[in-house]
Amino acid sequence: MASLSERLEFAQQYRQERVHYEPRMRPLVNDDLFCTSLPGEVYDRELEALKLQELSFSHMNVLSTAEIRTCIRSAEREGLVDDLKSRILDAVRSESRALDTLDEVEALGEVYLTSVNGNPVGSINNLVPVTWNASDIYGMPEVRGRYFLEAPRIDIYAPLPRVSAVVSTLCVAGVLPWPLQTYGHEKLHALQYNVFRGEAVPELFEAQAHRTSMDERGTQSHDLLVKDLVDSPAYEDLDPKKFDAAIWVIDRLNALGLSQKKAISVIKQPGNWNGFGCWDGLEDFIRAEMKRREINSEDLERELMAYNLKRTIETHKARLAACFVMYLEFRDIIDLRRRVDSRLRRGDEEQYTGEAAVQRVAV
Ligand SMILES: [Zn+2]
Repeated sequence: MASLSERLEFAQQYRQERVHYEPRMRPLVNDDLFCTSLPGEVYDRELEALKLQELSFSHMNVLSTAEIRTCIRSAEREGLVDDLKSRILDAVRSESRALDTLDEVEALGEVYLTSVNGNPVGSINNLVPVTWNASDIYGMPEVRGRYFLEAPRIDIYAPLPRVSAVVSTLCVAGVLPWPLQTYGHEKLHALQYNVFRGEAVPELFEAQAHRTSMDERGTQSHDLLVKDLVDSPAYEDLDPKKFDAAIWVIDRLNALGLSQKKAISVIKQPGNWNGFGCWDGLEDFIRAEMKRREINSEDLERELMAYNLKRTIETHKARLAACFVMYLEFRDIIDLRRRVDSRLRRGDEEQYTGEAAVQRVAV
């Protein structure tokens, strides 16, 4: 486990690398909005967030992956998986905000409301039916799911994850299995196109969907996300310059604390693309919000750093909450396993480093 000072150093480096904006692309007239230099110090809020992160790290490793696997096997044998999943989801929701976004787009509850004993079902939503384990008519192996505007419908190119997989990924990493994250992404597209009136800008829609449900830990850097998408044949229609600006906008709307639905209503009124690196209406909106909150562009960058750190922390808190439910349910099995493991470890140490080893060498 790295020390706090090492983590602070890492955070400084991370911040330098995590360039969320490209000053060279911004017109000079907008220098009141676009921060052109990174804040040089670690600020109080970040320190506060880092301390919280440190605290959650220190409580980590509640259960090892092997222990989690043992517990899940027991739960399956005893028919407890569904009940365990419900209790874990309740705990994750009450102890963390890790599922807030997926809950906002109603991507999770309905899946398992209509799943019978964890078995996948084909169509689960009257507004936008979803097909799990769909066959990809475009044959693009890197694409995990698709939203079809004309139908409208969602195809996910994987089966609905088993309930035990949901329990497992929450305990191991504080996240949901990737098909459910993909479902959240596509469901957000369904909301973008169907629920609010206005202009549909694919770059803005894609940026929002990627930031909200494919990147739980908030660790994918701006530059990497732009590169990943513009290099992919699946996104060849996206304008790289507009997508770059779209990530910039979405990150700041998130940092300002907008709900996903509010953000959709904002990005559907983008105004004109100014040709330099943003949309007039979105610049005006962000500037007006900054004025209302009496913050400048540097404060906004700090808000964004704090937002990203908090996302990481919420994921850790989710993992901790899930592990705790699991531990309470299977305490006997886990404690027994640990006693056996520590006895075995002690045996190993004695054999290779203790008296026994010395005696053997002597013989
Ligand atoms: Zn998408």
